[in-house]
Amino acid sequence: MSHSEGPTLQPATRVVAGGRPRPEPGTPLVAPITLTSTYTADGDDVYARDTNPTWTAFEDILGSLEGGQALLFASGMAAITAAIGLVPTGSTVVAPVGPYNGTAAVLAAAHAAGDLAVRWVDMSDTAASQAATVGAGLVWLESPTNPLLDTCDIPAIVEAAHDRGAIVVCDNTFATPLCQRPLADGADVVVHSVTKYLSGHSDVVLGACVTAPTPHGDDLAGRLARARLLGGAIPGPTEAWLATRGLRTLSVRLTRASRNAAILAARLAAHPRVARVRYPGFGAMISLEVTGTGADAERVCRAAHLISRSTSLGGVESQWERRRRYAEEPPSTPDTLIRLSVGIEDVEDLWADLTGALQA
Ligand SMILES: *Cc1c(COP(=O)(O)O)cnc(C)c1O
Repeated sequence: MSHSEGPTLQPATRVVAGGRPRPEPGTPLVAPITLTSTYTADGDDVYARDTNPTWTAFEDILGSLEGGQALLFASGMAAITAAIGLVPTGSTVVAPVGPYNGTAAVLAAAHAAGDLAVRWVDMSDTAASQAATVGAGLVWLESPTNPLLDTCDIPAIVEAAHDRGAIVVCDNTFATPLCQRPLADGADVVVHSVTKYLSGHSDVVLGACVTAPTPHGDDLAGRLARARLLGGAIPGPTEAWLATRGLRTLSVRLTRASRNAAILAARLAAHPRVARVRYPGFGAMISLEVTGTGADAERVCRAAHLISRSTSLGGVESQWERRRRYAEEPPSTPDTLIRLSVGIEDVEDLWADLTGALQA
């Protein structure tokens, strides 16, 4: 792979220039999809459950953006499960109230089984979060959270966690490395659902972990690579290739979607059918609470023509859903909350669709 993603280049350039074959005469500009299970012996690649150059293209770019070593996983949950597995059985984990519901389910199950002790804290309360790190082995951050869009003071919580010897993992799916770089704030591991903004076209399910050297010198990258190799749930080369293709346009997609979201968040806040807008001031996610009941919110979602009524987020197409329609969504999410992932469509078309749906 090329090393054109040097430290002086801006992120918008790195997503374009990184992860390419060396520009030698006759080599392809785009790294091909490597469909093989094995490699001729005595090279860098041995077996395709361990390494695949199609993964490496994506990992080079993401690692450059986050400032660490990236590893692609079969899904966001595969990356999250591998990261939770970095701490031994019996460890205490500090986690935010209302994280991504898959993360909450894995931690709650480990707690119920007696494998981990989980302390749920309101991470927007920095002092309470810092106090909760006493005796912890792992501090889990998600900022902004899904779907309440709460943010936390990453450097302040990381400092307290490291003072107590805990490792810090941050789910950076909603912010992306263009808005927030947790490793630069001291976090040890970043996890992503690559399914969302990084691939950006609602056509693959993938995940990633990115690690930086820890203050204690643990080889977290090596341990995560081993977890991927031995867990065996590896990404498919075709999905990895699609994710790299999507990542090339991350900067233009997010710039456009974020501009749309800022305009829509301000207009929604002034709409008589909207009781509350949650919008962190950056990124392209908005959670709105409509007036009335959960059934009213459900009717609003169904009344849109352009905005897709579907789960997931971070694609070029706008989509929304009422989160409490799922039995596993915690009661901390209001019944009338609709999570809106703003896409890259024309903002006036989106506003017309939103106002039409809200009036229905
Ligand atoms: C979607 C999501 C996940 C899970 O990722 P998958 O790719 O669906 O496995 C984890 N964290 C956040 C914040 C998400 O939005």
